[in-house]
Amino acid sequence: MCSVGGPMDMELEERLNAKTYKCKDCQGTFKGIGKNIICPSCGSDSVIESV
Ligand SMILES: [Zn+2]
Repeated sequence: MCSVGGPMDMELEERLNAKTYKCKDCQGTFKGIGKNIICPSCGSDSVIESV
């Protein structure tokens, strides 16, 4: 299973880096990359990692 290449390659990399977070204020879930995640809906930084 070593067939890499094509447009799927970059998408996979983004998926690996992006984690799913849940906002404690508006209960919304979203994907984010990085350490300082802010909810895109309400702008709150009270988010928890949701696996
Ligand atoms: Zn929110």
